[in-house]
Amino acid sequence: MSQDFHPNASPDHFWMPFTANRQFKATPRLLESAEGMYYTASDGRQVLDGTAGLWCCNAGHGRREISEAVSKQIARMDFAPTFQMGHPLPFELAEKLAAISPEGLNRVFFTNSGSESADTALKIALAYQRAIGQGSRTRLIGRELAYHGVGFGGMSVGGMANNRRAFGPMLPGVDHLPHTLDLQRNAFSKGLPQHGVERADELERLVVLHGAENIAAVIVEPMSGSAGVILPPVGYLQRLREITAKHGILLIFDEVITGFGRVGEAFAAQRWGVTPDILTCAKGLTNGAIPMGAVLVADHLFDAFMKGPESVIEFFHGYTYSGHPVACAAALATQQIYQQENLFQKAIDLEPYWQEALFSLRDLPNVIDIRTVGLVAGIQFAAHADGVGKRGYEVFRECFEKGLLVRASGDTIALSPALIVEKAEIDQMMELLADGIRQAG
Ligand code: PLP
Repeated sequence: MSQDFHPNASPDHFWMPFTANRQFKATPRLLESAEGMYYTASDGRQVLDGTAGLWCCNAGHGRREISEAVSKQIARMDFAPTFQMGHPLPFELAEKLAAISPEGLNRVFFTNSGSESADTALKIALAYQRAIGQGSRTRLIGRELAYHGVGFGGMSVGGMANNRRAFGPMLPGVDHLPHTLDLQRNAFSKGLPQHGVERADELERLVVLHGAENIAAVIVEPMSGSAGVILPPVGYLQRLREITAKHGILLIFDEVITGFGRVGEAFAAQRWGVTPDILTCAKGLTNGAIPMGAVLVADHLFDAFMKGPESVIEFFHGYTYSGHPVACAAALATQQIYQQENLFQKAIDLEPYWQEALFSLRDLPNVIDIRTVGLVAGIQFAAHADGVGKRGYEVFRECFEKGLLVRASGDTIALSPALIVEKAEIDQMMELLADGIRQAG
């Protein structure tokens, strides 16, 4: 039941990101409008959005508060520079973000995406170490299966092989912790998995190998999203925090996916009680309506930059669109919705229902693991004999044809509905998903 291209849109010229271009263009899936929990496809079908777009529309689609704020702002002032100039909105937004951020992370640097946030965070970490006289700390530690976007910094600390292997040498001086996916011990765990805290101790091994005096920062997603919803074992993040603090290594949380209520609370740092030195976010910051990212930084890091002559630029970094007025307007309206509708709490309130619903799929063909927390889930399938990723793609395709948008990562299907989701929509999602899984075979 593939769709045709729109009469006004040729398939030829758009080089689609992270897409099998030829396959897609032969059997396209086009979306035309969106409202609440649903997309309308170009053939008129309603498609239940099981992924909040791409993990970003946490308040649901078509929020008038956001589109009105955006159109008002673009008419009032479309752009203003923030290099040696300013306008009120990023100051206002930074204050709002500091108010919901983990304790002590009160300084905010604006970017336009998750990738830029990751690279900005790494640069802040390196420049901070130099600013405090620890200039030999240039190594960065990421983790296997991590995704920190597609810039050279984020790609280098990232750990998804396909995202790296075509691009030659990565940033020098990067090492990786082992990932925490462990089906043998943790398959079908409810909540955070019990086994695997010792994988954080691998950091001690890297410290011995490289010397703490050479390591600037460790970056992890508190929960890996893109690699297929990989949860932190109980105690793992705490252990990373202890080891980094002991050795003067900064801890960076990439919360591009986990931020803004996805796992309950504003950030995973708060849900799991571990405060990093730097936290990156994007996506849900503006409900996906306008591109924007942010890096939240601990006060003591910012203070270390503010020591030289006052006329000197303290951090030679920034983007033309850092603190863009229209993006700020979208973000302010979004944050107001989250607060007024208490949406972060909804992920916690719905968590048990969501978990039970997901576990009802446990006995379907080829399901080898189900992982859930907050309003996220990963369902992993046994790989098809024809290759890794085939079954995941088939489930994704079948679901779309039945009217449900899910996200495939290899043979794992990820779900991350908007936080406005109702129980009836969760039930509908599970029915469509079960059908899609059976059909995919
Ligand atoms: N970091 C994480 C954890 C992500 O999940 C993503 C995107 O999915 C990124 C960074 C990159 O964000 P963007 O695609 O906005 O550059």
